[in-house]
Amino acid sequence: QKAEWEKLKDEPSVTADGKKFTIAANIGTPNDMPGVNDNGAEAVGLYRTEFLYMDSKDFPTEDEQFEAYKEVIEGMHGKQVIIRTMDIGGDKHLDYWDLPEEMNPFLGVRAIRLSLQNEEIFRTQLRALLRASAYGKLGIMFPMIGTINELRKAKAILSEEKDKLVEKGVKIGSDLEVGMMIEVPAAAVLADQLAKEVDFFSIGTNDLIQYTMAADRGNDNVSYLYQPANPSVLRLIKHTIDAAHENGIWCGMCGEAAGDSTMFPILLSMGLDEYSMSATSILRIRSLMKKLDTNDIKELANKACYVSETAEENEKLVSDLMKKVN
Ligand code: PEP
Ligand code: MG
Repeated sequence: QKAEWEKLKDEPSVTADGKKFTIAANIGTPNDMPGVNDNGAEAVGLYRTEFLYMDSKDFPTEDEQFEAYKEVIEGMHGKQVIIRTMDIGGDKHLDYWDLPEEMNPFLGVRAIRLSLQNEEIFRTQLRALLRASAYGKLGIMFPMIGTINELRKAKAILSEEKDKLVEKGVKIGSDLEVGMMIEVPAAAVLADQLAKEVDFFSIGTNDLIQYTMAADRGNDNVSYLYQPANPSVLRLIKHTIDAAHENGIWCGMCGEAAGDSTMFPILLSMGLDEYSMSATSILRIRSLMKKLDTNDIKELANKACYVSETAEENEKLVSDLMKKVN
């Protein structure tokens, strides 16, 4: 099987009926780039920049960040790189940043909340990103957006930093896109409004599932409730994709579900545009995509969202489908 997958390394990601989608890689540091290219990723769909902060003894400087972002962007040779602004807080801490203890860190000052409460640190990262944008095709992505006001605030700060750089004569990439993660249920519900304010969405199922099901993503005792294929989760995903398309923007997914063989046919049926996953999953999913005909799975999305009552029923729908395909 591995040998079969290897052959797909330089092939485009297409379905049996010739529809083209993007399979991208998730990375944590520029050191992950060899794996990205060895597995034939068509983009970097998520660069988790918090590792740059976590692997450092003090806040990384603007130049240090710029170098790391530029290395990844140049390493993709014109293919898009989505870089997410720092997602610190929750379970991710920095030794050199003394933040107040919280009762519920995953519901506390995390990701964009922390950035908006510490604007200078946020602005430094945005300047590094804007400068790096000149070296390829960059998407800047905000994590954990829960309200349209947070998104507008983040965008306003980005555009202020951009204007200041332009005034100084610094070159900014002309292909720059600005997007947000959909990983807070409130954002998924209001995706139709948020879609008017961004160039793309990327669905973060790791958190979206945890917040929708109220089940800690790291707690084994509630892992039975952490259900990617639960119809409630799928309705939020479908609503997000539909809202994106109705507003003329593209929608990706960078949570684990994008590389999950059970979830994949359902997501394909919903018309998700980009699937971003760990590099080692890319060829498996590209091979699965090649076997699926979008005409045969047209009804799958609606069935999974509105007829099925449980995640188990959806797992059965997909396993029955796969028996016919294989
Ligand atoms: C997610 O929540 O699905 C996601 C991609 O972000 P992270 O796993 O870094 O929280
Ligand atoms: Mg997340």
